[in-house]
Amino acid sequence: MYESTSGGKSHGPTEQAISTDLKPLVPVAPSDEGELLNAFLADRDVPCPRCGYNLRMLVGRRCPECGDELTLRVGLVEPRMGAYLTTLSASCAGVGGGGLFSLIGLTAAPLNWWVKPAAICLLSLLTVSSVMLTTVLARRRRFRAAPIGVQWAMAIASCVLVAVLSTLVVALFDD
Ligand SMILES: [Zn+2]
Repeated sequence: MYESTSGGKSHGPTEQAISTDLKPLVPVAPSDEGELLNAFLADRDVPCPRCGYNLRMLVGRRCPECGDELTLRVGLVEPRMGAYLTTLSASCAGVGGGGLFSLIGLTAAPLNWWVKPAAICLLSLLTVSSVMLTTVLARRRRFRAAPIGVQWAMAIASCVLVAVLSTLVVALFDD
């Protein structure tokens, strides 16, 4: 009986300590988001992402300069945009280069040139790079959510594809 009492006594402070430790882990209700934002900006110089106004000591959730609503976010220290930007650049280069060659073909080449291998490669380049460009722009989040190895594989594949098709167009252009 005596033992159980002392056990109970020693149990009390431990439980209290645990509950105090867990307090910061309780998720913050959405209504506190504005307070968190204000607390974060109380002693920091942060420019408004829209107008650049210094938001230090902000009261409320709107930028006093442009009136846009603001939110507090968690970001990556290193956003890892390399693979995405490489794929995007390769697609843009394909569309741009393909467009330029098409213009040359339309103005300088005879009509029967368009059934020759160079023209077929050119149309493939235009089609493939246009599809890549629209896909990469429309599925940006999905692309960036993929494992980094898959992202780089897609980036390298798009570069190789655009480079090979462009080389073929240039090599066969005069034939
Ligand atoms: Zn602003």
